Amino acid sequence: MASELPAPQYNPKDVEEKIYKLWEESGLFNPDKPPTTHNLKSKTFSIVVPPPNVTGSLHMGHALNAVIQDILIRKKRMEGFKTLWLPGTDHAGIATQNVVEKELRKEGKSRHELGREKFLEAVWQWKEKYGNIILDQFKRIGSSMDWSRTRFTMDEAYKKAVEEAFIHYYKKGLIYRGERTINWCTRCATSLSDLEIEYREEKGKFYYIKYGPVVLGTVRPETKLGDTALAVNPKDKRYKQYIGKEITIQSVDSSVPREEPSQLKDIKIKMVADEAADPEFGTGVIKVTPAHDATDFEIYQRHPDIPILKVIGEHIEDYTHNVSLCYRCGTVIEPLLSKQWFLKMDVLAKQAVVAVKSGKVKFHPKRWEKVYFDWLGNIKDWCISRQIWWGHRLPVWYCMGVHSQTEKKMGFAGDVVPQIFIDKTRTYRLRDHGFKIGDRVAFENSATGEIFGFATITEIKKTTAGEIDLKDPKHHKIYNTREELVVAFKRHPQKISLNTINEKTPVWVYTYDFKPVSDRELIEQFIVSAEKPKQCPFCKNCDVEQSADVLDTWFSSALWPLATLGFPDKTDDLKNYYPTSVLSTARDIINL
Ligand SMILES: [Zn+2]
Ligand SMILES: [Zn+2]
Repeated sequence: MASELPAPQYNPKDVEEKIYKLWEESGLFNPDKPPTTHNLKSKTFSIVVPPPNVTGSLHMGHALNAVIQDILIRKKRMEGFKTLWLPGTDHAGIATQNVVEKELRKEGKSRHELGREKFLEAVWQWKEKYGNIILDQFKRIGSSMDWSRTRFTMDEAYKKAVEEAFIHYYKKGLIYRGERTINWCTRCATSLSDLEIEYREEKGKFYYIKYGPVVLGTVRPETKLGDTALAVNPKDKRYKQYIGKEITIQSVDSSVPREEPSQLKDIKIKMVADEAADPEFGTGVIKVTPAHDATDFEIYQRHPDIPILKVIGEHIEDYTHNVSLCYRCGTVIEPLLSKQWFLKMDVLAKQAVVAVKSGKVKFHPKRWEKVYFDWLGNIKDWCISRQIWWGHRLPVWYCMGVHSQTEKKMGFAGDVVPQIFIDKTRTYRLRDHGFKIGDRVAFENSATGEIFGFATITEIKKTTAGEIDLKDPKHHKIYNTREELVVAFKRHPQKISLNTINEKTPVWVYTYDFKPVSDRELIEQFIVSAEKPKQCPFCKNCDVEQSADVLDTWFSSALWPLATLGFPDKTDDLKNYYPTSVLSTARDIINL
């Protein structure tokens, strides 16, 4: 009987770990310490492993890719090359931050409650505990990597490489700060790259609106208030007589206070000729809303005399067509004008094209060159700033002198601090603090004085306390009874008696709707430097503050082959192993 046979099955666990240990101890994986029996050639062969996310665990794609690289590495090693295969992991900014935020939420905590420093400590702890799983898995499948050179995209030396690269690009005029229409997630309060967005096809509803003498079709009639021009294709004969002329349309009068019924008034907008208008689509006329649409913003750039008008705050109307969603939280993405940092791509893209055209870099299979050339041929400037905490902070320092005079503070009791920003965009005050729509405010924890966020006021309403919706989903606190509301209001050092708040109470409540904004969005004076400047070059006496933004994760991973081999220092590793011999990745990395 089978059960009587002594351990008939092959158990890989008994064998593989022992063999891997033997390999590792032999020193063969480390090109600096070859066994004396090996006669190394002077030639080198090197691969840096495309760094997997610290949040990851090995899937079949990684396994396949690791095996391909291992075959190349082992072949060259056996041929006597000085062979390096360098492992490591990517800090994966928003992905890791969201994993840790989710963990915290299970304990009823938020990152805002912890504050930036404590939250980052929590992320590092998480990374120490779970971040090496994927590297251990590489060992389990026998990858012959040099573990003595393991790197992480946020280790100390890597930070230096990122700062050096940022300053290098900035000095060359390739990094600039600009106002662009970007993809904004109102939940995560961050900008997202086009690749961080998911699209959901929805059945299109098409509205036809009469604009003066012409009719146009649109999927977003609610942005009509922000329209500042109409556009037609220059070849479209139907509208030739209107091009360059102003036409009169009816629009809502924005000077009427919001409490009063809206009124219509005549406004004049210009008709421009632009290739972006497709004569075959709708009536051939499109409306241009530069503040709320990336394509429209490009039209605006070609016709700079068109005004920009922001009309939407954080409110997102449901509209039916191709909806963009945040890939992390599923919130609908609102295109928004915002101050961000960009890397100019034209010069860099040209160099990258030349590297392949000249044969210095070769694609296998060759047909993937086309994807690469197409991508680089149509590339736009890259928005490199992100409004999250986990990542490389920009080596940018802002003058706080002028700034602190223009910024208004809004205090919050310590226990509501964590609630703000988790899709809450409304707060109530008992006094008129003099805020106006469009004002930028700093949210302050009244207990500690710590600033925990910034927002722009998008709407202000004055009502009586009796009109407050106790279960208002936008407010950070749900009141179950009016008594609870009174208790909450009483905490504030107001001189008003609140004993009699009821449906008819004359106590005024100011409702502020706000949109979380990028930190330091409005500050104009800054200095780019790896170290904190000793003295502010602008006002000479303020305590300069570092940008709270972090760089897109790809800004650091793009430096991977350089940084892991020692850049910006001139190291032996750079001399020996850079440029690397092969990069083996999934095809989507070509244009990611
Ligand atoms: Zn989001
Ligand atoms: Zn200053």
